[in-house]
Amino acid sequence: MKNLPQVDVVIVGGGWTALLMAKELSSRTALAVTVLERGRLHQPGEYLAGMDELDYAIRFRMMQDPSQQTVTLRHNPQQRALPIRQYGSFLPGSGVGGAGEHWNGVCHRGLPDCFELLSRTTEKYGTKRLPKDHAVQDWGLTYDELEPHYARVDALLGVSGKAGNLRGKQTDGGNPFEGWRSSEYHTPPMKIAYFSELFRTAASSLGYHPFPIPSANLSTTYTNPDGVTRPGCAFCGFCERFGCMIGAKAQPTNTLLPVIGKRKNVSLRTRALVRRIVSESAGKARTARGVVYLDESGEECFQPADLVIVATWTLNNVRLLLLSGIGQPYDPATGKGALGRNLTHQISIPAAQAFFEKPLNRFMGAGASGITMSDFDSDLFDHTELPFLRGGMLEASVTGARPISNFGAVPRSVTARWGSEWKKAAVHNFDRTGNITFLGEHLAYKDNFLDLDPTYRDRFGDPLLRLTLNWRDNERKMVEFVVPKAVEIAKAMNAADVIPFPGLGNYDATRYQSTHVQGGAIMGASPERSVINPYLQHWDVPNLFVLGGSCFPQNFSSHPTMTILAQAFRTADAIVDRYLKHPTALA
Ligand SMILES: Cc1cc2nc3c(=O)[nH]c(=O)nc-3n(C[C@H](O)[C@H](O)[C@H](O)COP(=O)(O)OP(=O)(O)OC[C@H]3O[C@@H](n4cnc5c(N)ncnc54)[C@H](O)[C@@H]3O)c2cc1C
Repeated sequence: MKNLPQVDVVIVGGGWTALLMAKELSSRTALAVTVLERGRLHQPGEYLAGMDELDYAIRFRMMQDPSQQTVTLRHNPQQRALPIRQYGSFLPGSGVGGAGEHWNGVCHRGLPDCFELLSRTTEKYGTKRLPKDHAVQDWGLTYDELEPHYARVDALLGVSGKAGNLRGKQTDGGNPFEGWRSSEYHTPPMKIAYFSELFRTAASSLGYHPFPIPSANLSTTYTNPDGVTRPGCAFCGFCERFGCMIGAKAQPTNTLLPVIGKRKNVSLRTRALVRRIVSESAGKARTARGVVYLDESGEECFQPADLVIVATWTLNNVRLLLLSGIGQPYDPATGKGALGRNLTHQISIPAAQAFFEKPLNRFMGAGASGITMSDFDSDLFDHTELPFLRGGMLEASVTGARPISNFGAVPRSVTARWGSEWKKAAVHNFDRTGNITFLGEHLAYKDNFLDLDPTYRDRFGDPLLRLTLNWRDNERKMVEFVVPKAVEIAKAMNAADVIPFPGLGNYDATRYQSTHVQGGAIMGASPERSVINPYLQHWDVPNLFVLGGSCFPQNFSSHPTMTILAQAFRTADAIVDRYLKHPTALA
């Protein structure tokens, strides 16, 4: 093994959270920071040639290669898990920028009560109302504490949108149910496409409160506080699963890398696959010493560091901790151990598929362009008489309907499933079809968790990560409740036919849902039931911080990245302002 010279900080991963931390630490301190990313650096101009649906969206050019690293899945602890050999329900990223390169750019904040889910729910509905097998927890952090950091993310990305609650005062045009915001969005909302406009009019006519999706795709040119300028979006429709060819969509490589590139105290090593965090114990105290990685040539290297920051995305974070033997693995039978517990995945379904007489021009679009509403979100409607808790958002977005992914839908009047009649109908309906999507909360349950698979191993002989994950009645009933609402809105949009989503059933690994998979190394107020403290610092290893969605105790309805980045900012503050002065536990 090659022993490398000591650095102050090693950051594992090169995506949103890793590069944000590298930018903050290198800008605000003289620390020597090394970033280790397993993938490659995308070449300048590469995305210009990237409008290739087959290569990027269907063959997953920018995603983690499942033939090199995958996970296994089962629905309950009694089953044997099987490896996922082709990506379906989520799409982990690889390469500098991570999934942040090919994300959509939807920029919701979490609603305030989500951070105190256990206390708020039991306060209102009593202790017996949550499902018997729930594992819901408070975050150990409130919305009020996170708000200033959300505001920093808004400024960093230049999020386009309209406030609904400015410093506690309701303002027109935004989400009236959102948590208070200390400032207005930095750029106006995106242009709204015809299909989304139909949704807005219909939802308003039914008494709901639709608002424009907050977007990092940029409605207009914007210069952020670091002096990085990005242009407004051209609505080409190649955001989700693609890097932005004009740099309008905020991505780690166009928002953070330009700043990091100017700092002499950061080095970014690509093709560096980290396999272990090395730590040692003295009495009760445990200290991380650095990480072991394979470099591009396959040589094993030890990178010693005073501070280790893990930022490899939810599932990779948890696997790295498990493989490194740091923290007690969760055992669902006894409830002991915290590492691996509370695996959740945002519910994402096409609640109503609507067919229209007129073309919708849905080929124009942007990853985060559209109209959404929170009327059936969180606890914004009374659940006393309902057979489920919590909720989610209904929305009509226009992300740029691409021919391979979007071809083939026909209304129910077409009975043929193949042949010329079906083809004719499919061509006719290609641009006359739109989905009203439901994005829902996923509660945490005792039997939804992560551990190391006892059977399947990767090419180095290390166990794969095993996901034990399924929906419960709470999610199924939530979907049953919300689908008729989506159908009602679609009908009010004058859809000629509306096909309702048939129901949730079991967790389906083949249907893309979202890459909003959370938990496994959750944060909390006590070391018994969480892996990291509210500053994302490991309870047992004070010089180890774990960034990203692995810290979420349960899933919001909304997309996670605003919260993930806000927390990374907060952790950077805690490291710079407190930890470096007194390198001990911050909570
Ligand atoms: C198609 C798609 C659309 C999305 N749209 C949205 C959206 O609209 N809104 C939203 O909020 N979120 C969205 N997301 C999710 C968003 O991209 C993630 O929340 C965000 O990127 C998480 O940041 P991260 O730093 O935790 O992980 P990432 O950005 O994924 O970065 C992790 C990095 O770590 C590297 N890595 C992993 N393991 C190792 C290892 N062992 N050694 C070295 N490096 C390693 C990976 O290669 C990767 O570069 C989307 C994701 C996808 C895939």
